[in-house]
Amino acid sequence: MYRSVRASLRLSGGMFHRRASAARPMLAAYGRGYTSDSSRTVAYTKDKYPGIERSTALNQLSSEDITFFKSILPPTSVITDEDDLSSYNVDWMRKYRGQSAVVLLPKTTEQVAKAPAYCNERSCHIGGNVATNAGGLRLLRYGSLHGTVLGLETVLPDGTVLDNMSTLRKDNTGYDLKQLFIGSEGTLGIITGVSMLTPKRAKSTNVALVGLESFEKVQETFHMAKDMLSEILSAFEFWDHKAAGLVRAHHGVGHKDPLTSQYPFYVLVETQGSDSEHDMAKLNGFLEKLLESSIVDDGVIKSLWSLRELIPEACSKAGAVYKYDVSIPVPKLYTLVEDMRERLAAVGLLGQQVEEVIGYGHVGDGNLHLNITATSYDSKVIY
Ligand SMILES: Cc1cc2nc3c(=O)[nH]c(=O)nc-3n(C[C@H](O)[C@H](O)[C@H](O)COP(=O)(O)OP(=O)(O)OC[C@H]3O[C@@H](n4cnc5c(N)ncnc54)[C@H](O)[C@@H]3O)c2cc1C
Repeated sequence: MYRSVRASLRLSGGMFHRRASAARPMLAAYGRGYTSDSSRTVAYTKDKYPGIERSTALNQLSSEDITFFKSILPPTSVITDEDDLSSYNVDWMRKYRGQSAVVLLPKTTEQVAKAPAYCNERSCHIGGNVATNAGGLRLLRYGSLHGTVLGLETVLPDGTVLDNMSTLRKDNTGYDLKQLFIGSEGTLGIITGVSMLTPKRAKSTNVALVGLESFEKVQETFHMAKDMLSEILSAFEFWDHKAAGLVRAHHGVGHKDPLTSQYPFYVLVETQGSDSEHDMAKLNGFLEKLLESSIVDDGVIKSLWSLRELIPEACSKAGAVYKYDVSIPVPKLYTLVEDMRERLAAVGLLGQQVEEVIGYGHVGDGNLHLNITATSYDSKVIY
């Protein structure tokens, strides 16, 4: 399965430590004192085992999560300070070093229960994915759930169980009823079983980031990517300089612009294939052609997904945020952002209550994420 069907926050380390410290408080205190100063010398497990990658299906901890934990626990029971965390991130044999960004010290069973319940809420399930016809970053390559769902079992409001659990790629018998439930948002029945086509994980993944002067050039880059990368093209994401600015402002060091200067637009291109050398040669050829044709001025081959993935969180950190998720033909995609800026400026809201109008999204699917950040939620902004 190429897309996350379950996601969870990494909390178990913290809770494990709490259980140990509750049973043996002195040992826990000793453990912390022993490891905190010297833990830095233990290599990160991710560096010791470079072949093991953190699943992209897992959520990243956000400031909203920390705020929630502080609402259910006393502030001193939510540890986020890097030095204080270091002892929890190293095992007692000093062989492994993790990177957990929060440790919770619940004191009661009820407090213990609230944390995983919250994490579970933040996870999504395959029934919800199908009911919302969720797409994602690689729909361009792997297609929509209308194509990958092979069969569904659903329970109708009157209790009838509709068994359409086909596992056949081609099933021409009768009406394709399952399609009605994909994207039905629970209005027709409850999905209780899903049979799904799952592609093999690609052996080779390469990522490039380029900076561009206009949305026209974003489109030219997309056409060239389809032409030159064709079967290995797996994602084509764009974002504007306002989105890049928010990521820099709210995620700071480590998310600086990796290009030599800043650009009005950025595009991240990902390829997935089975032959690393072949795929890299194609990606290099594509980038050279873009530079030769003066479509882009600057680019880098590097896995910079975080610059794209942090945009929604950076928008939320900016204050109140109005989020729209719309599908528009690609040539008109960015016009909506420009029109929105013009309209909000015309009524005197832009630069006042409205701080930024941001555009980013999946060019390959004609799917724009229009985010409007504001100082506070106010009906004037919507109307
Ligand atoms: C219209 C729409 C489109 C979306 N598109 C995307 C997208 O393209 N990419 C993306 O990453 N996210 C998308 N989302 C966000 C989406 O909600 C989550 O990505 C996730 O797929 C939802 O899973 P969940 O388990 O959290 O569902 P919930 O948030 O619990 O439910 C979402 C909806 O699905 C229904 N539902 C949940 N489970 C079932 C079930 N078993 N049977 C029937 N109905 C059920 C609920 O009634 C509700 O209407 C979209 C959301 C909506 C509403």
